[in-house]
Amino acid sequence: MSDYGSLYFSIQNSLRDLYPKRSPLVIAVSKTKPYEVVREAYLQGIREFGENYIPEAISKFTKLREEFPESEGSVHLHHIGPVQSGTLRKLFGVFSHTHGVGSISTLKELLKRAEKEKKTIRYLIQTNLTEENTKHGMGFETLRSMKGTLASYQNEYCIWEGFMGMGPSTGDWAETREVFSMLQELRDSYFPEKKLSMGMSGDYELAAELGSDYLRIGSKIFGERNYAKESI
Ligand SMILES: *Cc1c(COP(=O)(O)O)cnc(C)c1O
Repeated sequence: MSDYGSLYFSIQNSLRDLYPKRSPLVIAVSKTKPYEVVREAYLQGIREFGENYIPEAISKFTKLREEFPESEGSVHLHHIGPVQSGTLRKLFGVFSHTHGVGSISTLKELLKRAEKEKKTIRYLIQTNLTEENTKHGMGFETLRSMKGTLASYQNEYCIWEGFMGMGPSTGDWAETREVFSMLQELRDSYFPEKKLSMGMSGDYELAAELGSDYLRIGSKIFGERNYAKESI
């Protein structure tokens, strides 16, 4: 039996000690890990989970609710992959948050769907600050220019929490710092009420230092992912 809980809480507590005013929250990213791992992590006290693939998340977290009905009120499931028009309706009732809203058109669809479903979802706008063309998300200038209007994209069920960002795919440290600093500036200067979701296993300490409110940590808690072998 692995001790996911100790790993999770040692990271969580050290961040809370370092940044007591902000209390950054660690999301345990359990994507690709089987139900038994999620179950164990739940029994060890973890309540914030992150998943990328909607069908995989539905299968695992439906099982968790069946086995532990009280988990429905206490577990928050964060969707951390790109939000896509074809599947966004499946987010409702399963995920409390989605961190991957990458465009205004997707956001409009999410808002419409939320009204229909009458289920609450909190969202973060995914940013693309490295300007890699292949990447999903909105750029710094676009977002800055929407300072006065972005907050209007909300309704009773669909609540805007902030921005999500990822470092460059190269993992280059200086560039990662630059990207996280830009997000920090975007938030602090233009949207001071909003939260930031940045930082993964390799760069969460830097992300926390630069003001992140959510840290999305997978392999550091659950071990390396083996996409070929593990059941999804
Ligand atoms: C997989 C994933 C993570 C977690 O990655 P680790 O490096 O295992 O911590 C965080 N954020 C997103 C968007 C991911 O897809």
